[in-house]
Amino acid sequence: MVQAVASDDWTALSRPLERALGKRTAKALERLGLKTVEDLVLHFPFRLAHRGELMPISQVREGESVTVVAQVLSASLRPMNARKGFLLTVRIADGRNELGLTFFGKAMRPLQYHERRLQAGTIATFSGTISSYRGELQLNHPEYEIYDDEPDLSKISQPIPIYHATEKLPSWHIERAIAAVLPTLTAADFPDPLPAGYRALHHLPSRFDAIHALHQPTEDKAWEQANARMKHEEAFVLQTSLAQRAAQARGRKVSAFPATAGGLLQAFDERLPFALTDGQVTVGGEISSEIATCVPMQRLLQGDVGSGKTIVAVRAMLQVVDAGGQAAFLVPTEVLAWQHLRTIEGLMGELAMGGQLGSSTQSTRVEILTGSLTAGQRRKALARIASGEAGIVVGTHALLSEDVQIPFLGLAVIDEQHRFGVDQRDSLASGVHTLVMTATPIPRTIAMSVFGDLDVSTLRELPQGRAGVTSTLVPLHNERWMDRAWERAAEEVASGGRVFVVCPRIDADQPEDAEQSEESEQLDAFGDDEAPTDASRLASSRAHEQEQLNVPGTDIASKDEVHSAVATHDFLTGRLPGITIGMLHGRMKPDEKAMAMERFASGQAPILVATTVVEVGVDVPDATLMIILDADRFGLSQLHQLRGRIGRGTKAGLCLAVTGVASGTLAHDRVEAFVSTTDGFELAEKDLELRSEGDVLGASQSGGQSHLRFLSVVRDAPTIEVAREASRALVHDDPDLTLHPELAAAVATLDTGRAHYMEKG
Ligand code: ADP
Ligand code: MG
Repeated sequence: MVQAVASDDWTALSRPLERALGKRTAKALERLGLKTVEDLVLHFPFRLAHRGELMPISQVREGESVTVVAQVLSASLRPMNARKGFLLTVRIADGRNELGLTFFGKAMRPLQYHERRLQAGTIATFSGTISSYRGELQLNHPEYEIYDDEPDLSKISQPIPIYHATEKLPSWHIERAIAAVLPTLTAADFPDPLPAGYRALHHLPSRFDAIHALHQPTEDKAWEQANARMKHEEAFVLQTSLAQRAAQARGRKVSAFPATAGGLLQAFDERLPFALTDGQVTVGGEISSEIATCVPMQRLLQGDVGSGKTIVAVRAMLQVVDAGGQAAFLVPTEVLAWQHLRTIEGLMGELAMGGQLGSSTQSTRVEILTGSLTAGQRRKALARIASGEAGIVVGTHALLSEDVQIPFLGLAVIDEQHRFGVDQRDSLASGVHTLVMTATPIPRTIAMSVFGDLDVSTLRELPQGRAGVTSTLVPLHNERWMDRAWERAAEEVASGGRVFVVCPRIDADQPEDAEQSEESEQLDAFGDDEAPTDASRLASSRAHEQEQLNVPGTDIASKDEVHSAVATHDFLTGRLPGITIGMLHGRMKPDEKAMAMERFASGQAPILVATTVVEVGVDVPDATLMIILDADRFGLSQLHQLRGRIGRGTKAGLCLAVTGVASGTLAHDRVEAFVSTTDGFELAEKDLELRSEGDVLGASQSGGQSHLRFLSVVRDAPTIEVAREASRALVHDDPDLTLHPELAAAVATLDTGRAHYMEKG
């Protein structure tokens, strides 16, 4: 036969499940994405259950696939009233709660079979999808496994592994399938990436033993140790990969840009209208000495919104230009690119007028490169960049395109770094000094696992003379408060201030999430753009429904709808006659956006209705009031970023977070957390508490992250720390992992997975 394949073409692990278990089982397992023996044995139970210790029925929810261990209370078989056929109803209980089971049948006989098996007192695991009938939860035609069927008494005290199951494939079927293939495997099939010494030190079982203990635990402790081992493995492999990247990057020599006296930097410092903060001085010193050497700098600068990161970056760029290099400043949005250009040119004055009439002899050119340049503008910009005439290039993703040549590039600054993937960072920043900046305070555990390859500096203080922001929660349905909010906006304008009104969407047709992708073309990692979780979204939309049904006067957001920029703009134009209301959102053309920003900054249109486009970096010192509509629709750190747009001058800012969700919901808790503190670091910690692991890692920038199955970056900080230390030492002694082939293989697999993930992303 043509397609016959010798069975030994497969290793024990790569054998298709069809070969190992037969067609039917293989087909069922394939629905879980399991195709080979390896897939199957690496499909782990997510928890243990115990015979005798019954699992809570109280936790089952409608629509969920569940497995419960329970005892039969009663079973009754009777003909159906309205239709032909028979009905078997069974009551089961887990000691606290009861649940009904129903079996229907045209004939009596199959139901009698179940009735015989499910006699009162019988203990079994029941598995199926919870449905609701007349307000009561129940299981229809559950699969079940009776414990008495299992004569092996030695097993009765053993914990039961529980796998994520489907209706067609209950947990114990998976358990049996695994039991069938495990004996065909040997320790040689599971090379262990963890060094023996590390394992011994932390009392961790081998990979082979751990896999057995996870599927067939003899006791809870063995299962827990196996879990701990897998966490260590994930942490160790990830940290090794990061340590290798760091070591490789550091091993590459790059150009050195020592500080020079009497150059642009010095002239710039002399021009600065303010004194640098202590933090800016310290971090500036660190950066200055790092870029002065051939060892590539890889530094993450984190500092709360408004802490003055831009100046730090500009000063570093000038040091590079002084020493004959070029610097690139990568930012996530078009708006931000233009703003940075203006800021940098403003601060540099004549120092930025290189090649122009009236320029000082000591000057360079600041070039901008974004997707909105015309072909002609772009060509000219590219030429000035390629000739080295432009010392500083500010740009969006357009900077990363292949035809951009920056021949003397010595420093890449990446602003709002979480908006870019590792691959994008690398494409600009490999082989040059790199400074990545973020305003999203990163809790230490995440910094270690995601940014393990970067050194971290933090700007903790805000520049002097900044008045700060007060935040208040405003209930949407409280008409008096809402009226007051709009009055307040008018007052602010009357006294020369500027007001942001932020909406979650552009218009009624536009789904909430489209804005981000339009603006930054990149879905985000944890941090600013995390959309509220489905649960909170649901909670908030339900609350909206309930509350808005009988709310008069909320004419800008009808039932079940969130505020849109377009509708809010119309509403405010009517509500605040005499004040010009501007608008800014991601669907406007770049010149329209620039115009809107300018009219806002100049006071021509002192109220700006905007979407999250204003979130990052927009700097209008006169902005004092921000009204965020549907604040519950934004992520916590995104709210914090938004709020950072006001109170930047000497006048105090006020942020009104308007929400229609009911108190007590997770969505409301988040808004409350937001108004309770202005400390970004504290907020980041709260954010972690309120979020689940999945949210934190999300579509993380490091593809490797999405492969963490055991490790929690929120809870397993100690493990990550231990693994980080050990893997760094190991990479130091054995940079190519020649002495650790198993680890090398695991790192390679991780990196391939990551590359894969990038392509998809
Ligand atoms: P961020 O860290 O959020 O990027 P920016 O760099 O945009 O902050 O700085 C915010 C504002 O603070 C800018 O208007 C900037 O000119 C100003 N600023 C920066 N450093 C200082 C300083 N040392 N003293 C006073 N104002 C400063
Ligand atoms: Mg900034």
